[in-house]
Amino acid sequence: MRVTRYEGSHSVGVVCLPGHPEIFVVGDLMSLDGLPGLAEVAMQSGAHAGHTIAERVRGDGDAKPFRYRDLGTMATISRFRAVASIGPIRLWGFIGWLAWLLVHIVFLTGFKNRFTTLRQTLRRDS
Ligand SMILES: Cc1cc2nc3c(=O)[nH]c(=O)nc-3n(C[C@H](O)[C@H](O)[C@H](O)COP(=O)(O)OP(=O)(O)OC[C@H]3O[C@@H](n4cnc5c(N)ncnc54)[C@H](O)[C@@H]3O)c2cc1C
Repeated sequence: MRVTRYEGSHSVGVVCLPGHPEIFVVGDLMSLDGLPGLAEVAMQSGAHAGHTIAERVRGDGDAKPFRYRDLGTMATISRFRAVASIGPIRLWGFIGWLAWLLVHIVFLTGFKNRFTTLRQTLRRDS
């Protein structure tokens, strides 16, 4: 697999098993040039695999290489506490946790999923 790196992001060919272009490797299963095992990497690589499959079905020539855009990093560190690094912005403690919660809820589809996740998170953290 060809891997190149340039400022602030990563670019690789379509992320497939060697010799098996029909098998995609995304998220925590892939190990690419130091990309962290984070939800953002999983979401972007999964979206890239989906687009690549759709392009192949349409017969749209060569797929675009996977390019990771670093949108920031967030992680919970204890009950109601998290750290977040988004560009020049650094958040921590309860404010960091609220930002973490907001981002994770926003990216879920459907009201039921959002409500259930919020309820489970509050129950787990309290
Ligand atoms: C405790 C913890 C805290 C984390 N906190 C953060 C955080 O704050 N911020 C952040 O960005 N990232 C965090 N991460 C990392 C983030 O959760 C992962 O990077 C992300 O979930 C990877 O997504 P994925 O789709 O590759 O794998 P997963 O989310 O693990 O999804 C894989 C799915 O495949 C299913 N599966 C497994 N085997 C089979 C099988 N044989 N057949 C069918 N299904 C199967 C599993 O049940 C699971 O649902 C955390 C991870 C952990 C463990």
